[in-house]
Amino acid sequence: MLNIVLFGAPGAGKGTQAKKLVEKFHLAHLSTGDLLRGEIAASTDLGKLAAETINRGELAPDGMVIAMIAVYIDKAANASGFIFDGFPRTSLQAIALDRMLEERSMKVSGMFALEVENDELIHRLQLRGKISGRMDDQSTEIIEHRIKVYHKKTEPIIHYYSAQGKYFPVQGQGAEDEVFARLNEAIFKIWRSQISS
Ligand code: AMP
Repeated sequence: MLNIVLFGAPGAGKGTQAKKLVEKFHLAHLSTGDLLRGEIAASTDLGKLAAETINRGELAPDGMVIAMIAVYIDKAANASGFIFDGFPRTSLQAIALDRMLEERSMKVSGMFALEVENDELIHRLQLRGKISGRMDDQSTEIIEHRIKVYHKKTEPIIHYYSAQGKYFPVQGQGAEDEVFARLNEAIFKIWRSQISS
């Protein structure tokens, strides 16, 4: 089983690359951002609770996101693996993911981190804001705040995966297909080593 954590700052290209990886490796794609936006669109209790936090560029509460992802892991129980996109985003979420997977006899195969410079992230999110309709892509202030939150709360998870020998940085700048080729190469290495072990 291939369970990938696709990691990176807002605007690093996680969603775009995840879609390509799903086609190639036939994995279930779990994007916590997409799932939360789905809850908001459906006006569920969870969506109502999360909306204001998300629009301000803050992270949704750990407990809420962890409970939500557990439900979706179980919904896709027959999948041949998962791509976790935008999850985990805090150390607590990383620990919870390991526990959730262990309880289901699975584990994270690797954390693949798309590396993109801050200026490029801001530029990409400003462009995306023109077509995404996402509230949190509309103002430069909120975009910059999301990137700050990433560096403060999310980036430290790198140490968690690095300590397990599961951290694989990938250059995320350049054309989409070039990034995909680099990501593929990194994932194939892990996949091959999993098969041969
Ligand atoms: P994304 O689509 O991944 O950029 O996520 C959009 C927003 O949803 C984030 O800025 C957070 O407010 C919220 N969100 C998504 N994933 C998580 C997560 N794992 N933990 C907390 N908040 C999240």
